[in-house]
Amino acid sequence: MRLSIVVLLSLLAACNTSHQTAREIDMYNVSGDLVGTAVYTEQPEGVQLKIKVEGLSPGFHGVHIHEYAKCEGPDFKSAGNHLNPEGKEHGLMHPEGAHLGDLQNVEADSAGLVDVELTAADATLLSGKKSLLPKEGSSLIIDEDPDDGLTQPSGDSGTRIICGVLKKDEEESSLETPTDPTETDIKNKEESE
Ligand code: ZN
Repeated sequence: MRLSIVVLLSLLAACNTSHQTAREIDMYNVSGDLVGTAVYTEQPEGVQLKIKVEGLSPGFHGVHIHEYAKCEGPDFKSAGNHLNPEGKEHGLMHPEGAHLGDLQNVEADSAGLVDVELTAADATLLSGKKSLLPKEGSSLIIDEDPDDGLTQPSGDSGTRIICGVLKKDEEESSLETPTDPTETDIKNKEESE
């Protein structure tokens, strides 16, 4: 009986790990319309981000990972500043940079579509100082203007126009709560056996 519980718990743990190494999130504009997705994948060199969104003005736009998992329109200020666990300066071109959440600009085509792959260098979806899931998570924001890579605090990239939330796995957080139904199931099973 004890063995079966151990096996079950290991399966749950394995399940959580696989969820954390590839995650898809929805992206919304300031009116709350769904405008695309972003897929996060854990890689040896960092976290790969596949971003696919529509409805932008053609040309370059700044993209950053922000510190709070909250996208409240219309200004998305709820997402806080760029994710910066090491207290660095802003900008991929700054000698004392960059924020962990600083990414390359993306280019929207003439139809306003962005379909790109970026890498958040050295970042991880697992735990640790460079995690993109600190506390509840983080958010991904696209700005109206391109990031110049130097200007503090956010590269002069203008208004926040698209936002998506990367939240910690619900399964994982529910495992931490004592009222978890899975846990009750295990206990019931234990009693019945
Ligand atoms: Zn920054």
